[in-house]
Amino acid sequence: MKIVNIRATPVTVPLKRPLRWSFGVETSTTRTIVELETDEGLIGVGETRGGDEVVRALALHRELFMGTDPFEVSRIARRFAVFRMTSEQLALVGAAKLAGAAVEMACWDLIGKALGKRCGDLWGGIETERVEFAAYVFYRYASATDIGDGDRPENAADHAEELFDTHGFRDIKFKNGVLTPEEEIRSVRLMRERLGGRLRYLRIDPNAVWSVQTSVRVLNELEEYGLEFCEDPTWGLEGMSLVRERTPVALATNMACVTFEQIPLSVRLRAVDVILGDVHFWGGPSAVLHLAKVCETFNIGLSLHSDRELGISTAAVLHLAASETMVGHTIDTHLLEQADDIITEPFTFHEGRVRVPSGPGLGVTIDRDKLRFYAEHHQRVGESSEFKDTARAGFRARFPKY
Ligand code: MG
Repeated sequence: MKIVNIRATPVTVPLKRPLRWSFGVETSTTRTIVELETDEGLIGVGETRGGDEVVRALALHRELFMGTDPFEVSRIARRFAVFRMTSEQLALVGAAKLAGAAVEMACWDLIGKALGKRCGDLWGGIETERVEFAAYVFYRYASATDIGDGDRPENAADHAEELFDTHGFRDIKFKNGVLTPEEEIRSVRLMRERLGGRLRYLRIDPNAVWSVQTSVRVLNELEEYGLEFCEDPTWGLEGMSLVRERTPVALATNMACVTFEQIPLSVRLRAVDVILGDVHFWGGPSAVLHLAKVCETFNIGLSLHSDRELGISTAAVLHLAASETMVGHTIDTHLLEQADDIITEPFTFHEGRVRVPSGPGLGVTIDRDKLRFYAEHHQRVGESSEFKDTARAGFRARFPKY
């Protein structure tokens, strides 16, 4: 079997409501949907972060996979792996790594379909059919032009309660770094009070917006609320290490350690307790499985990161979480905040869990009408998926008071 054709379709899918985070306000997600066609007529699907730049990278690097047997997925992944080790600052290199993630994902989908096996079974064996997620809680704008009550702690607590009542979650991932630290501490307290014993683990993610001093102060104040961990309180491995030295709260990252070359320093500095592996940032499913072994070696926790992925990548995440036993923390997803999807049977939550697809490969099918619709939408609106958070006009990240 050989890969003989590729279709790469960039899509932009809106979020239900604009989501606030430390860098701005997110309004949509842009992804590239990859379809690899073989000489036997099988089609494998993959997905990655980004749009037009990824499509250009796929065209530029097509010799890395075209004409190759998808069963040689490790060879293809190795060819793309060269882009994992080079600087993240070079945009095209970044796009090539992201492109490789989609190609590799599609190869696994092809292998699964050819063998009649699910990806999770190819990746070590599915241990659970229902993967548990944490409720992903944000401060949200009411609309793109109206913040509503999105600048009040009650806004996030309401959001948490609604997600628990509707979908039966037990854990929370709370996007922070938006209000003042004092208001965010109050938000956490409100969530604990309102949800009581229903809330098991709570983690926060200020996306590196706080100074070292603020991180230490806030985390020590929050300790009584039983934080599972804090994602990226401050910038860089050195900063993370300084914070970790001075707080008992465990630290996680999907910003300070996103490549294998950063792991030795993370370990030496004792900067990170948990790595949130992103199937695109790290370069594909094989890289995440490799990351799991490295984490096991150094006794670092592992969870999986969400980056507004759609249904195809969500399926890959489900297969990884279901089969890789190192994934020891509930994972998070933007899925419930997204207005739509491009697969025929979008995922649903029951008791905070999502069922692993039962079909071969990734087990999802592209909805052609939706793909066409959101590809056209992408042509119209491009990749402008964020706007500046005007509610924080005077805000300067990492000033000592933050
Ligand atoms: Mg994060």
